Amino acid sequence: MPVDSGHSPKSFEILALQKDFDSAWSRSFPGGKSQEQGYVLVWGPDGNLHAVNGGSGTTGTFTPNFNVESGYTIYGMFHTHSYSVAEGGYTGVSLSGADIANLINDSRRQISVVQSGSLQFLMLKTEATPLSVNRSAMNNSENAAISNFVSGGMNFSEASRVAAVNTARQNGLAYYEGSNGVFI
Ligand SMILES: [Zn+2]
Repeated sequence: MPVDSGHSPKSFEILALQKDFDSAWSRSFPGGKSQEQGYVLVWGPDGNLHAVNGGSGTTGTFTPNFNVESGYTIYGMFHTHSYSVAEGGYTGVSLSGADIANLINDSRRQISVVQSGSLQFLMLKTEATPLSVNRSAMNNSENAAISNFVSGGMNFSEASRVAAVNTARQNGLAYYEGSNGVFI
């Protein structure tokens, strides 16, 4: 684990799983309604990263199944952020306060990856990350920050990214954005 976000890798490539990420995104609008999709990310005995236990969540949540085969080590999770046309059709929506708290509060997770349209977001724990946070407080304060930014004229997607960057910074998390499995 990096000491802090300043000592984290400058970039990340998860090219091998892009087909899984794209598949999840393509399944995120059944019948025109939003339904988040996701996987658990694990290191396999082959030394490669794998996306396993694919599943569906709700319109605004995805709960990963961390029951993984023996020999596989949990690294984190991936999920989609999908908004139907009726919900505004937003893409490029970053990690929510709840997503970030879920990463922090689960000692098994090192990484959290989100895809929303063609944009992708990644947070990585460091030694500067707290071992636990108040999930509802973090979610509420990030939602309040997003509302403030939107009131100030920012669009919702951009507001979600600025709020996520701030929450990451305040919690010693390295933050990346990217597309097609390349994160900088
Ligand atoms: Zn989420």
